[in-house]
Amino acid sequence: MDAGPSHPETLGAFMEELRIMVKLIGQAPAKVFVTGGAGFIGSHLVDRLLGAGHRVAVVDNFATGRESNLAHAAGHVTLHRADIAADDLVPLFAGATTVFHLAGLADIVPSIERPVEYFRTNVDGTMRVMEAARAAGVAKVVYAASSSCYGIPDVFPTDEQAAVRPQYPYALTKYLGELTALHWGQVYGIPVVSLRLFNVYGPRSRTTGAYGAVFGVFLAQKLAGKPYTVVGDGKQTRDFTYVTDVAEAFLAAATSPAAGEIFNVGSGGTYAINELVALLGGDVTYVAKRPGEPDCTFADVRKIERVLGWRACVSFRTGVGLMLDNVELWRDAPVWDREGIERATAAWFTHLGKERAVS
Ligand code: UDP
Repeated sequence: MDAGPSHPETLGAFMEELRIMVKLIGQAPAKVFVTGGAGFIGSHLVDRLLGAGHRVAVVDNFATGRESNLAHAAGHVTLHRADIAADDLVPLFAGATTVFHLAGLADIVPSIERPVEYFRTNVDGTMRVMEAARAAGVAKVVYAASSSCYGIPDVFPTDEQAAVRPQYPYALTKYLGELTALHWGQVYGIPVVSLRLFNVYGPRSRTTGAYGAVFGVFLAQKLAGKPYTVVGDGKQTRDFTYVTDVAEAFLAAATSPAAGEIFNVGSGGTYAINELVALLGGDVTYVAKRPGEPDCTFADVRKIERVLGWRACVSFRTGVGLMLDNVELWRDAPVWDREGIERATAAWFTHLGKERAVS
């Protein structure tokens, strides 16, 4: 607890204390840390935190994060180039009051191909973040979890009590990261909140590298005048949640007294891929449905509404419009076609195909 101001006896002593205070404030370390702050969601969270007047530090190894995601905030953010799975985070976190832990490896196919790397970053890395948070005595950790832990759910909308059934190493490791963060919270008395994010989209989502999230794939195809590669019949739906709404949920989690809690973060709706295609406009081609893909993701958001007073504000139609306004961001993104996707997703079919499933 703050001890409050002391009472210096003389004007000279007062001036000296003032001088020391100014110096301390000038050198004070950033209070709010965002791991993965140069990434897609992390950089939007940084923007929101700066907007709220926080001093922000970012820890990122730039594996998938980009300096350009924070270029507009240069000079306002302390940037630590560090790997959560390898570097000593304890000195970095000194003085932190809140840690937002978003650093991690995403994407399904590479997680099937390189599970050890995913384990190391998403599980071991989370444990190391929690250890550093413990050493710093932080007042709150907010963990970015994934709705992929629900796998193929039985009930829609899906609430936080639903069975956990990870279908691939990405989902497993994000879930184990969640367990780790909450366990550290329980054992060491750190208030931890885990947010299970549903299909986040928005500007700055990754434009390079592995075949991944549908928005990037479709926007690059749109710019190239190529057909959208719709999976299955396109009737499957996703709870597409706009990134600025997600950043707001992180802030709500950090400022609430909630601890040891899991919250779904979703848009309040679920939208078919065919609806997305209709809003984007253009031709389609079809690719095979993948094993382990749910026909629907749809968050039950009653808990987060009730406890954190958060709900998404950006409608799907508005969000898609914002993506179209920013379509140039995908100018250099790879343009996928059916054959390329078949090659890129081969491991998915090999390892998750029904014929290999254990009952
Ligand atoms: N999808 C699609 N074409 C693509 C990539 C994805 O139709 O080229 C569909 C996919 O089948 C899923 C939805 O878009 O129903 C969202 O896919 P994404 O990979 O973005 O997220 P996830 O499958 O993890 O929910």
